[in-house]
Amino acid sequence: MVVILEKLLLLQERDQRLQTFLHEINSVPGEKAALQRELESAQRTLESDKSRATQIEVERKRLEVEADGKRVQIAKYQTQQLETRKNEEYAALKHEIERAAADITAIEDRELELMQELEDLKPSIASAEQKHAAEKNRVAALMKTADDKVGVLQGRADEVRVERDAIAAEVQAADEDLFELYEKLFRSKAGRAVVPLEGNHCSGCHMTVTPATLRDAKVGNEVVSCEQCGRIVYTLPE
Ligand SMILES: [Zn+2]
Repeated sequence: MVVILEKLLLLQERDQRLQTFLHEINSVPGEKAALQRELESAQRTLESDKSRATQIEVERKRLEVEADGKRVQIAKYQTQQLETRKNEEYAALKHEIERAAADITAIEDRELELMQELEDLKPSIASAEQKHAAEKNRVAALMKTADDKVGVLQGRADEVRVERDAIAAEVQAADEDLFELYEKLFRSKAGRAVVPLEGNHCSGCHMTVTPATLRDAKVGNEVVSCEQCGRIVYTLPE
């Protein structure tokens, strides 16, 4: 195999590793955003339970005020009843008192319902608080892991980049055109610029290469390309 081809394969191996590291690094912000969303979802559940509890308290106070108003009204009607001598007016006041009393009963029933709902909500709030606290710890730990991972990957990527730059410089110095071809292929062929032949097939595009290409690749005195996809091809030792 021509020496430069061996160098190209080394370069490609480093470039592929570098690409994998960079891909992993780039996926971390997305992973962190997903974690943040999970935490926010736990927070929303907690907040919605808590805000319902607050709503219930507000509604209960409003109902109490309303019931108190009705009680004051009843007392007023009762005083008026004592003062009147007209049967008709007395009966009308009696009717008003009964209506206000019925209203109070309805208000008190509603208050009991709300108190029950509040009681039922308490365990739900407690569990949402627990879940939120657990989520916070879990997410913080995973965020830290993600940041640590980026640090490690960045370090490895830097190491590989130094190696690939050194090999790239050698290739470029030996054959500028070949280096440019490799760079172009690496970008356009998803990181597979130099591929082995499998029998008389290019393992990049799976098409048959010409007998001349197969022969030249076997002889290994020059760099040959697949006629179909343009990738640089070589034969694996038998
Ligand atoms: Zn091909």
